Amino acid sequence: MKTYDTIVPVDFWNPDPAVIDRAARLIRAGELVAFPTETVYGLGGNALDGAAVKKIYAAKGRPSDNPLILHFPSPEAVESAAYVDARAKRLMEHFWPGPLTLVLPARDCVSKEARGGLSTVGCRMPDYPAALAFFAACGVPVAGPSANRSGRPSPTNALTVAEDLGSGVAMILDAGECRVGVESTVLDVTDSVPVLLRPGGVPMEQLQEFLGEVALPVGANQLKRSPGTRYRHYAPTVEVRVWVPGEAFAWPHAFCYMGVRAPECEPAREIRFASYEAYAHGLFSALRELESSGLPIVAEWPPEAGLGRALRDRISRAAGLS
Ligand code: AMP
Ligand code: MG
Repeated sequence: MKTYDTIVPVDFWNPDPAVIDRAARLIRAGELVAFPTETVYGLGGNALDGAAVKKIYAAKGRPSDNPLILHFPSPEAVESAAYVDARAKRLMEHFWPGPLTLVLPARDCVSKEARGGLSTVGCRMPDYPAALAFFAACGVPVAGPSANRSGRPSPTNALTVAEDLGSGVAMILDAGECRVGVESTVLDVTDSVPVLLRPGGVPMEQLQEFLGEVALPVGANQLKRSPGTRYRHYAPTVEVRVWVPGEAFAWPHAFCYMGVRAPECEPAREIRFASYEAYAHGLFSALRELESSGLPIVAEWPPEAGLGRALRDRISRAAGLS
């Protein structure tokens, strides 16, 4: 297996201060550093520095109108980059650190590149001590989309980041495999009724319980508010077909399978998960692992509850259905 000298191990709880300091210096010098979170690996750059943010888009091959999420070491640190009202504060107190991104009105200091030209900015505090130590040391908001080439499945370990991005990243902080494995929930809180722009690690039911009402964007409004939903995502190099248990399905002659339930035909290779949580956790690495067979991948369509909504979103995008 190829090794990469950009990969530097860090401890989840107690990252080496010298390593964190080196990573933070790179960020302040306008370089890119990939970092682990509880969801997926992020590709970090100084959000206040338009030139650094442009490097992120270039390394990923990402369309420049798809805004980036900014990362913070604490709720208080967000105030430097966005306007935080009482409701946003309550959401932060309840769900942070954790996989919830809040879209808030941006302050002018946030580069327009990081905002994708919008007047708002996505903000998040990951549940990951090593990453929080890194953000604190940077002293600036760290813009960080998932650290994969645009359109590919998101990376849940450091080696995948190095293989996807190569020399585009100066350093990769490596703390092993991510826990949640599916990206953050994106919630727009700039209107009276919050809007769920992307299902993710915090299930919609939890937000509804906390907020009372959560809207789902529809039609053209969705594209305007959540530019990321415009683009093909999570696509492996082979075809992905969706099996809805209980419905008629033409099983391919030869195929790989991933899901919780047993498939109705014998697959050439399969990745079976013990639960739908585990399916969400392992989805991206399963897509990357199974694509190497060159065979189509059959993916079980999960129930909608809990992380199922986020799973459905990622599977339908991987299959090119949305
Ligand atoms: P990624 O970091 O690649 O997982 O993608 C970030 C997601 O957050 C994309 O779907 C973006 O469209 C969305 N996002 C980030 N900032 C904003 C914003 N200011 N307004 C709406 N959506 C945003
Ligand atoms: Mg992404």
